[in-house]
Amino acid sequence: NKQVIFKDYVPGVLKESDMYITTSTIKLKVPEDCTNGVLVKNLYLSCDPYMRNRMRKLQGSYIAPLNPGSPVSGRGVAKVLDSRHPDYKKGDFIWGMTGWEEYSLITATETLFKIHDKDVPLSYYIGILGMPGLTAYAGFYEICSPKKGEFVFISAASGAVGQLVGQFAKLLGCYVVGSAGSKDKVDLLKNKFGFDDAFNYKEEMDLDAALKRYFPDGIDIYFENVGGNMLDAVLLNMRLRGRISVCGMVSQYNLEQPEGVHNLMSLVPKRIRMEGFLVYDYFHLFPKYLDMVLPYIKQGKIVYVEDTAEGLENAPAALIGLFNGRNIGKQVVAVSRE
Ligand code: NDP
Repeated sequence: NKQVIFKDYVPGVLKESDMYITTSTIKLKVPEDCTNGVLVKNLYLSCDPYMRNRMRKLQGSYIAPLNPGSPVSGRGVAKVLDSRHPDYKKGDFIWGMTGWEEYSLITATETLFKIHDKDVPLSYYIGILGMPGLTAYAGFYEICSPKKGEFVFISAASGAVGQLVGQFAKLLGCYVVGSAGSKDKVDLLKNKFGFDDAFNYKEEMDLDAALKRYFPDGIDIYFENVGGNMLDAVLLNMRLRGRISVCGMVSQYNLEQPEGVHNLMSLVPKRIRMEGFLVYDYFHLFPKYLDMVLPYIKQGKIVYVEDTAEGLENAPAALIGLFNGRNIGKQVVAVSRE
């Protein structure tokens, strides 16, 4: 059983060498004393920014750090090989928390979901039909109180979450602009996802001036994925009673000390609501979300772009790539396709 092992906590920039590959033997049977255990073959693994924060000791974190010396854990799509759980049987496909390894014995089965609809790519269950999809849905509809015609800005807009927020906002009739870190990503936003406009933040010396160019009348909704100086510039460009949905701050995850935010005072005169959220509080909305999004996918009204790294040994580089923008779309690792 090939595995990706997490070495030890990393306070600054995460590197590939903070993980290593090892191989061990595993019996492809759930042990008799493992009540409710499910043994799976991992097909697709998800790379998500939060995983980096499990590799450091973070004060006030909502999720436990990984154990040094253990396989990296994260969401995946897998096939059941053997099961002692009444809800899962051999041959079922599932998604949920699994390990960065070829085979996993899953005992925390409360994190698993059975895959019923296989008319879509299976990897979608760690993207648009999984945690990132629900994040976009809850973070936009539940937190932003969006209305038709409003001006919406999204950072890290071509990523797993951002590309969906933009498409949801367009379907609602909003004016949508996204920022991303390369020309290819900007083209994707405008030509594939249907954003009204997009810009490469790395080419803008003055983010405040850039936002004034794209939003001469200001921003009603900011979907915050990156933090840092982007947030500061956005705060200067919000409209009266604007909403900021704080989904994440990926620019901060590789810093030993988070950067300060300077323009929070803008919240007061403009009566802005800035609200953080965790997708875990919205898992009850999954059925409602799937009812909405599956028809959109099948009718081609929503598209989803994935970036697939081939092979478990490329998983560490794929995770690191999230923090320098190497991924174009949702970063997935294909461990096996059957
Ligand atoms: P992405 O697929 O968007 O990948 C991360 C992207 O962030 C990179 O591709 C890169 O794109 C951008 N990025 C990396 N470093 C920086 C930087 N220093 N400054 C600006 N941009 C940077 O990730 P996700 O869509 O999965 O996640 C987006 C955000 O949502 C993250 O902050 C994540 O933590 C958060 N999140 C929060 C959840 C919640 O429950 N609140 C759940 C899931 C995700 P580019 O080339 O454009 O720079």
